Amino acid sequence: MIEPGCGYLHEIAQRCKFLNKINSVKAFGLLEKNLVPLGLGEPDFQPPINVIEAIKNAIDDGKNKYTNPSGINQLRMAICKRLCKNYSNISPENVIVTVGGTEALAIVCHLFFERGDEVLIPDPGFPLYKGEVELCEAKPVPYPLFEKNNFNIEIEDIKESITSKTKAIIINSPSNPTGNIIDKSTRDAILQIAEDRNLIVISDEVYDELVYDGEFSTFLGQSDNVIYINSFSKTFAMTGWRLGYIVADKRYSKQLSNLHFYLTTCPPSIVQFAAVEAILGTQEPVFHMIKEFKARRDLIMNEIRNIEGFNCTVPKGAFYIFPSFRYKLSSEELSNKIIKAGVLCTPGNIFGSNGEGHIRFSYATSQENIKRGMEIIHKTTEKLK
Ligand code: PLP
Repeated sequence: MIEPGCGYLHEIAQRCKFLNKINSVKAFGLLEKNLVPLGLGEPDFQPPINVIEAIKNAIDDGKNKYTNPSGINQLRMAICKRLCKNYSNISPENVIVTVGGTEALAIVCHLFFERGDEVLIPDPGFPLYKGEVELCEAKPVPYPLFEKNNFNIEIEDIKESITSKTKAIIINSPSNPTGNIIDKSTRDAILQIAEDRNLIVISDEVYDELVYDGEFSTFLGQSDNVIYINSFSKTFAMTGWRLGYIVADKRYSKQLSNLHFYLTTCPPSIVQFAAVEAILGTQEPVFHMIKEFKARRDLIMNEIRNIEGFNCTVPKGAFYIFPSFRYKLSSEELSNKIIKAGVLCTPGNIFGSNGEGHIRFSYATSQENIKRGMEIIHKTTEKLK
């Protein structure tokens, strides 16, 4: 039995060595403890009831076999129908159904990046961007997002970060962890830069339905250089079912599909049939969930404003707040104290060096849990003044 952390039986590949620093076992292990769950990035809702029925029916109907690697045709057509409200010019050949947004991101990175390439990533941003780029032996180049600027992208920062080695820009709106949404003029400026410099734009829009204020501007269909990523995890509360998708120009979709075939053969069959129902069936449960998230967002904002020592911009989407704090501690130290007091949370530094001095709280949990958690945080931070 190989004990983790006690050295390697065989030397692992250089590009995988950074994985050593990530303790996902510890992070997920904490979930089993009875802590107030303000840590996790997943809806506390169950998938819609009609979708649960659909997965049961898929099993009973014998849909338990391999499928087309890119996904069953009904699902790819349903995805096109869903996306048509933003962009009409997509067909099933543009769509690859993946094992979550995570696999989507991984295969996009593996198809395009190689040693020496530079890839712009948001800082703070979803930690897998850095990791996936590093697994391809490419170099992540963080573009900074600042609280004083509501975590908006500064176009000048993007321009300054581009070199002759830059291959792509990764964009995430609504953002994990900041909750910020990219406005139309920023989107158009990014697209213009990408066009001028011949860069790929990888747009991760897994929180696209979770928008509470302002207008969301998708990158989908805005340019042939855009590779669009979405997922069923957040919108339909299907995190554990592992289904996502990519929309890409036909020049790339075939190669992405081939790569995806080598890694997974195909996405899970029964989940795909359930996902058709998720898209084509009633959207009432989704609307209900969004309404509840907005109420929770307002609640957690009210609570955090009452805690001296935190400063928090109002997130417009997703289900996180990302306050900065004035206690003389690192984000790791502060989150350890809060976790010890009984509330799960995530230190800002795991989202990039610009996330230091911040802490992420998820409000994808009940209003009761939010109140209980914030009360504990209030008491814990009182002692730090
Ligand atoms: N992108 C962002 C910004 C996320 O926050 C997540 C999950 O937390 C994902 C992608 C991946 O989601 P999944 O693999 O469950 O579709």
